[in-house]
Amino acid sequence: MAQDRPVEERIERRLRDPKVARDVQTLADFTRIWCVGRHKGSERHPVSTTAARLGVYGRRIPSLCSECEAHLAYAEKRRACCPKDPKPFCARCDTHCYRPDEREWQRQMMRYSGPRSVLCGHAIDAIRHAAAARRHRAARRAGRSREEGR
Ligand SMILES: [Zn+2]
Repeated sequence: MAQDRPVEERIERRLRDPKVARDVQTLADFTRIWCVGRHKGSERHPVSTTAARLGVYGRRIPSLCSECEAHLAYAEKRRACCPKDPKPFCARCDTHCYRPDEREWQRQMMRYSGPRSVLCGHAIDAIRHAAAARRHRAARRAGRSREEGR
């Protein structure tokens, strides 16, 4: 696995970026809501993903079942590898960096956890997410009308 080392190092460097860390924390919060709601009876344990190991979650290490931990570990890496700055909305991005099955999982997870996050004390995250989506849609509309005007 020696050849994977530079990739790992880049992921670790990116996870230390506060913007990336915040996105990853939100992802973990949403994944936790999904896991608690959808995987009742599953055994959960504090995750040991790359971000957890690097201290991105601080002392609030999310507790997930093994299945959700694998999804979160994948999502952390995808987020860390995103070359776009500012990062567009994953759901609206034209670069499909997610594997189709992971993409589908994340779509369902966000749809489930987004509205519930407001009830679970993550109102700020949910509002930030919705506001960013609105800005993104507005920017796209503006971009389109500029093109049409040509
Ligand atoms: Zn789970």
